[in-house]
Amino acid sequence: MNTTMQAAVVEQFGKPLVMREMPVPTVGAGQILVKTEACGVCHTDLHAARGDWPIKPTLPFIPGHEAIGVVTAVGAGVRTARAGDRVGIPWLYSACGHCEFCLAGEETVCPEAQFGGYTRNGGFAEYVLADPDYVAHIPEGLSASEAAPLICAGLTSYKGIKETGARPGEWIAISGVGGLGHLAIQYAKAMGLQVCAVDIDDGKLAHAKKLGAEVGINVTHGDPVAALKKATGGGAHGVLITAPSLSAFKQGIAMARRRGTCVLVGLPPGEFPVPLFDVVAQCITIRGSFVGTRRDMIEALAFAAAGKVKADIELQPLSALNAIFDRLQHGDVPARVVLDFAA
Ligand code: NAD
Ligand code: ZN
Ligand code: ZN
Repeated sequence: MNTTMQAAVVEQFGKPLVMREMPVPTVGAGQILVKTEACGVCHTDLHAARGDWPIKPTLPFIPGHEAIGVVTAVGAGVRTARAGDRVGIPWLYSACGHCEFCLAGEETVCPEAQFGGYTRNGGFAEYVLADPDYVAHIPEGLSASEAAPLICAGLTSYKGIKETGARPGEWIAISGVGGLGHLAIQYAKAMGLQVCAVDIDDGKLAHAKKLGAEVGINVTHGDPVAALKKATGGGAHGVLITAPSLSAFKQGIAMARRRGTCVLVGLPPGEFPVPLFDVVAQCITIRGSFVGTRRDMIEALAFAAAGKVKADIELQPLSALNAIFDRLQHGDVPARVVLDFAA
């Protein structure tokens, strides 16, 4: 086995990542070591590298939370993964297993949770340590690069749609149809919903239509809220906001139907104004949603294994990461870039 690995490291917030040769981590008790085959690049990695959020990772760190790879070493006491298994190392790197939230199967809000590529080194490296109790087990028939976007973008979209409570036949508005949103459209269609895609980019909206969205609305033209209300006969039953832009949030709430639910998933830094009278008088629910639980992960991967959801991916080598971050920041990634470690 190799003793050193290539990794992309955030050494300073807001600066390009540094490609480093580092020792391959050694597996401790209760851990597994995974040789990375592929890792998706999520907009969250960009927020992490810029230090956008109130709780910042400790520098230096290796981002990446859509890594898929093969288990190459297993620490003492590990019973839930074996050498040779193909696993995914998600954002929810681990949780305590004992708090009121873990006991309720809501481990994403565990106060002790650790986050892959944030509080623990992530998948922009040739090897990653993982907690075997929290990895995703990748179904047969899905390649590493196909599976990578599903373990964050797919999972988060699927869970977010469930959290809207929208029922088959009803309307969902999906604001932001990039990495998360292009998968959200496919999950929503597979769940029997009617989809109104919302973005600032006509190319993304054309893609959304190809993926099955009934309606596409460009928020930079005309009155997008009025257009959405007209198309849906009064507003969307569920609204999923994945856009990394604050203006999308106030707008998304205005797109909800009376008694509708608006699920917030995008994480641009900052705050946004809530139109209190409308939210109260129209009984609108506003709800945050953070990735998904291990149970949600199994469900989200099953849709893809059954051929109902497929990520649109562009393969790139690890060495291209800074250029990919630049493109993500400028909205120039059509769907999802996946780092291919075989390249
Ligand atoms: P992305 O860059 O691939 O896609 C973002 C999309 O939003 C693009 O298509 C862009 O054109 C569109 N957009 C930008 N401004 C818009 C606006 N005002 N209105 C409508 N659309 C707009 O990003 P991504 O990887 O899909 O991630 C999106 C956001 O979701 C990021 O903030 C990320 O941190 C967050 N995220 C949250 C969770 C969670 O658990 N809550 C998980 C993953 C990602
Ligand atoms: Zn992510
Ligand atoms: Zn817990």
